Amino acid sequence: MLSYNRRQLELCLRAGKNISLVPADPAFKFSEHTTYGLGGGASRAYFPRNLIEARAVFGYARSRGEKIFVLGGGSDVLASDGGFGGVVIGTQKLTGVLRLGSGKIFCLAGTKISPLLSYCQKHWLGGLEYLAGIPATVGGVVCMNGGAGGKYISSNVQSVLVFNGEDVVLSAKDCNFTYKHSTMRDIECIILGVVLKVEPSEGSVIRSRISERLANRWTLPKGRSCGCVFKNVRNGDGQFISAGKIVQDCGLAGFGDARVFVSPEHCNFIINNGGSAREVVCLIDKVKSIVKQRTGIELEEEVVRVGEF
Ligand SMILES: Cc1cc2nc3c(=O)[nH]c(=O)nc-3n(C[C@H](O)[C@H](O)[C@H](O)COP(=O)(O)OP(=O)(O)OC[C@H]3O[C@@H](n4cnc5c(N)ncnc54)[C@H](O)[C@@H]3O)c2cc1C
Repeated sequence: MLSYNRRQLELCLRAGKNISLVPADPAFKFSEHTTYGLGGGASRAYFPRNLIEARAVFGYARSRGEKIFVLGGGSDVLASDGGFGGVVIGTQKLTGVLRLGSGKIFCLAGTKISPLLSYCQKHWLGGLEYLAGIPATVGGVVCMNGGAGGKYISSNVQSVLVFNGEDVVLSAKDCNFTYKHSTMRDIECIILGVVLKVEPSEGSVIRSRISERLANRWTLPKGRSCGCVFKNVRNGDGQFISAGKIVQDCGLAGFGDARVFVSPEHCNFIINNGGSAREVVCLIDKVKSIVKQRTGIELEEEVVRVGEF
């Protein structure tokens, strides 16, 4: 139950001033909102409960020139132990899926992949099963152009509703999707929702595709991580070489110490086993430097660093 009049808040938003009606989370810590389980606080953190609140907090912070970090599922974020000197806007309460027609759904940005796939299975809508097991929100996956098994969400995106002070609808083309990248990473904005293309498919078929994907992922390292730390590397022919394989071939499986180490099972995962963000960053930098020395390859980070390191 919202404790204010939506119209009032809309007016506040237009005036770019008072957002006191949207509660901030005074106890916010990145460590409680990221899969790494690392990171300190923020100047202020909000978890808007609807799109009006999301626009209000974003618009207010922006009008004051504050730094803004939009946090989805926190599954690709490495936040500094000292925290972030700006405003965090978490999307985890912006959830919901709406069917727009036989081949389209609208998802609010904070919807997690697992409930999205449950919705698809229930309504016999296929085409997104490859996302099964990614511990992320729709907004985060779209922002990062995430995917698995050679498929990326860009192939399902029809349009993206972003707010950057005003609502803007970006077509898939406007999003300029490339490998693990989209325009939304370059502009200061919050993704509010996404229209995804889906296709009719039987519930049992969807279920078995999801189970297959989940079974394939079973071998991924356990423990706290951000998934793949580095982007795969394109060779001269435009083919991708696995960054994990490059790290492994440099003899770095298990490199690190008991607190923070390169996973021996999958060398693109760096596991946090009671360490700090500083220790993770030191290990990332060491791996990059050794790989550069031994192969000449400059690994690029996929993980998103937040705050000062
Ligand atoms: C165990 C594990 C397995 C993984 N497997 C995969 C995999 O198979 N494939 C894959 O692609 N990734 C994988 N990842 C990485 C991660 O899940 C993806 O990068 C995912 O897209 C991040 O989504 P998120 O919601 O957690 O975003 P976050 O980690 O919270 O944020 C990531 C980036 O997106 C931005 N962002 C998030 N939401 C919004 C929004 N609404 N508006 C604007 N910007 C936003 C953030 O500012 C940040 O820059 C894995 C991670 C883990 C921990």
